[in-house]
Amino acid sequence: MTNKNTNSKESNTIQEILDLRGRPIKDLRISVIDACNFRCTYCMPNTKSYSFMTPDERLTADEIIRLAKIFTQLGVDKVRLTGGEPLLRKDLFQIISGLSSIKEIKDIALTTNAFYLKQQAKMLKDSGLTRITVSLDSLDPKTNTLMSGVTSELNRVIDGIRYAQELGFNPIKMNTVVKKGMNDQDIKDLVQFSLNNNIILRMIEYMDVGNQNDWKLESVIPSKVLVEQISKYAPLEVIEPNYHGEVATRYRFKESKGEIGFISSVTQAFCGSCNRGRISASGKFYKCLFSTEELDLRALLRANHSDQEITKKIVETWTQRNDNYSETRTEQTKKRKKIEMYEMGG
Ligand code: SAM
Ligand code: SF4
Ligand code: SF4
Repeated sequence: MTNKNTNSKESNTIQEILDLRGRPIKDLRISVIDACNFRCTYCMPNTKSYSFMTPDERLTADEIIRLAKIFTQLGVDKVRLTGGEPLLRKDLFQIISGLSSIKEIKDIALTTNAFYLKQQAKMLKDSGLTRITVSLDSLDPKTNTLMSGVTSELNRVIDGIRYAQELGFNPIKMNTVVKKGMNDQDIKDLVQFSLNNNIILRMIEYMDVGNQNDWKLESVIPSKVLVEQISKYAPLEVIEPNYHGEVATRYRFKESKGEIGFISSVTQAFCGSCNRGRISASGKFYKCLFSTEELDLRALLRANHSDQEITKKIVETWTQRNDNYSETRTEQTKKRKKIEMYEMGG
């Protein structure tokens, strides 16, 4: 599809927009596919069955690139590719190459379960990807199998991480969702692994995303508790955020080189500085991970709307944004209808 306005003068003028709480849009999460080869208990429990979008339903690489360009004109300078499992998308190279040709985008990151990382790391590097985050919840094969919902192939994941590091993806970040009674006993090993391998560990509080994971508040271990526990064997010292709106609270290890972060969406909500928008693989734009309202960007693209018309719709949507779900979460709100994280993009 041709982009009627890519070279227009307007496209070079960044018009930052603020929502009703004064928050800009800076960080765009783009889901490239909803399907996944894992069935993590907290995301797509394998007790349920799933049907995924057809290739026609997904945005094409050109549509994704065109939208990303439009969003940069409203202030976006970071893009994260996610899913589902983004490494299942066959034309990822075209998507990333297209994004890396957009000068306003300073950072293109990807979140992956790393199952296919070793095969694809070189392609990712060549396409212009700047950062990789790997999701890994346990180094114990039994726990890993339980949490990922598929027979653990830890060596494969670790080989993928090491190869990506050799290619220059440094530092790699590692997301660990902590679920009480599931992987809390594995944290010490994960901390040690991250220190030995120059990885920045991010411990994420288990969230009530979607309606499938049977979330319970009692399964959440507050980050504060984790910081206290880890400090007993690896003393920690808080460090400054890298930038305004960073979701992780960062600590450095006092006795060794390395850093760890905690994403405390449940116990210390950070909605006040949330500058993230999300586009699902089918082109729906969401203002919040817990939002059910959407702007159907695919419909606009495929009805041949101009960049200006699409921009106008995005501006109307963002400037009406008032979301702050994590500040209002209770055991009751978890029952609200939500969109699954693998559909919307994590
Ligand atoms: N499949 C890729 C992966 O797992 O890295 C990318 C998509 S996944 C939805 C993105 C991130 O969301 C992963 O790091 C995953 O651990 C996290 N996530 C999924 N469900 C979650 C939940 N209920 N609470 C907290 N984080 C969650
Ligand atoms: Fe797949 Fe990622 Fe969800 Fe796990 S968290 S089921 S790897 S999309
Ligand atoms: Fe942002 Fe919504 Fe999460 Fe709050 S709940 S931090 S507004 S995505």
